[in-house]
Amino acid sequence: MAAAGPQDLTPAPVEYSLTGGISKCGLDQAIVLKSQGFLKEIESLPQWKQNEAYRITVERFSVLIEAASDEGVFRARQTLRQLQLLGGDVPCCIIMDYPRFRHRGLMIDESRTFKGLDFLKKQMDAMALLKLNVLHLHLVDADGWRIESEAYPLLTSKTAWRIGRTHPEWKAAGFRYSSQDNPKAYGGFYSAAQLREIVAYAADRYITVIPEIEMPGHSTEVGFAYPEVLCVSSNGHPFTGSWDVCPGSEATFEFLETILSEVMDIFPGPFIHIGGDEAIMNAWPKCVNCRQRMKEEGIHDYRQLQGYLVRRIDEFVRSHGRRIIGWDEILETGVPEDAVVQSWRGIEGGLKASKAGHDVVLSPNRFCYLDHYQDYYRKEPKARSPLISLRICYSFDPVASGMVEEHVLGLQGNLWCEHIPTPEHAEYMIYPRLFAVAETGWSREKSYESFRPRAEKLCEVLRGLGYNTFDLQGESSLGRSGRRD
Ligand SMILES: [Zn+2]
Repeated sequence: MAAAGPQDLTPAPVEYSLTGGISKCGLDQAIVLKSQGFLKEIESLPQWKQNEAYRITVERFSVLIEAASDEGVFRARQTLRQLQLLGGDVPCCIIMDYPRFRHRGLMIDESRTFKGLDFLKKQMDAMALLKLNVLHLHLVDADGWRIESEAYPLLTSKTAWRIGRTHPEWKAAGFRYSSQDNPKAYGGFYSAAQLREIVAYAADRYITVIPEIEMPGHSTEVGFAYPEVLCVSSNGHPFTGSWDVCPGSEATFEFLETILSEVMDIFPGPFIHIGGDEAIMNAWPKCVNCRQRMKEEGIHDYRQLQGYLVRRIDEFVRSHGRRIIGWDEILETGVPEDAVVQSWRGIEGGLKASKAGHDVVLSPNRFCYLDHYQDYYRKEPKARSPLISLRICYSFDPVASGMVEEHVLGLQGNLWCEHIPTPEHAEYMIYPRLFAVAETGWSREKSYESFRPRAEKLCEVLRGLGYNTFDLQGESSLGRSGRRD
């Protein structure tokens, strides 16, 4: 059988050397050494890199893992697991490894289609294998609220089910929510116990879960379940032609803070994502409460109400010892100092935010959006344009010219699910492009020529484990070329 060695690993390790011969020792027999000696060798690295650093020494009759922390041991074991999965003899070698960026993530949209607990666990297994450490869950949106709330139970009873399996079907059905007992109902949500199970499963794999609660836009379902968060016209009627919540009303803040308290109770991680993208703001200038708020706060431009909301929510989240992340639109109305900006409309948001001293996560929609076509559109299921083939996804560098590197936390692949009807389809869009995200996030030196055959092998490995990956060997010449169309 052919040998699978450090040259076959994804993400590529920082450095390795082949020391000659083939190991006769089972990789699961590794001896773990958390030594002062190793700590001394890596002491020049930042603390977060030290935590993930490891060295593996594969010899003829022994395998040794050296690390400074349990996390480092875990990363090392994932390396050994990947070597095992790749199959064949393992050559004697030394692998020295640690990450390039601290935030290496995958976002999954559970609102547009609900994929459930087993799906998320399965993806976390693959994430661990790829040394990814952030799972960002887009849990609520107009298409359905997907988390149980004790204080606001109507969110799930009224909007976790809808007519139409996919977003386009739901649109064709007139964007109708339904009750669970309707025979045509599609949907679901996570109970608090299931969410805790996700958090625990992630923690076992050194993955941080970032929950996203959207505000003030993308909130049709909230207004449907609890109309008191909507803007109000001068005749006292709520505005229903907007998907924004009302930043003028105290009921909105009571709602958001209660929900965020529930969310922070379940998710222990340092970050809470508050969305912040694509607010329409069409009702705000006409709303009694918004106008009153503007007067009180001395706000002259109604769009600045978004900044008011973000600052107030940031204060609330910070008072609980956490930090907010928001999509790059939050830059337009003033960002609290400690907030993290997630750049999605290209990298401009990241450039601007990092120069202003904010930490940034990069997921530009031209490189990191996994719901885009990954090959020539005529041979692919419906997706978004433009093309983001594996080569294009791989070509992204988070530290583009002008980015203030010390503020770049890392990158994420984002799987929006408007066009993704099933869990199997979701996997098809995630793999192999997530391999590219993982290597960009972890490895210091990248080469597509080296990566491509490794990605093909890893697709085979994942298919053997029951994942539905894109057929990389059948990729068209357009996909292979790296051209957009
Ligand atoms: Zn309002």
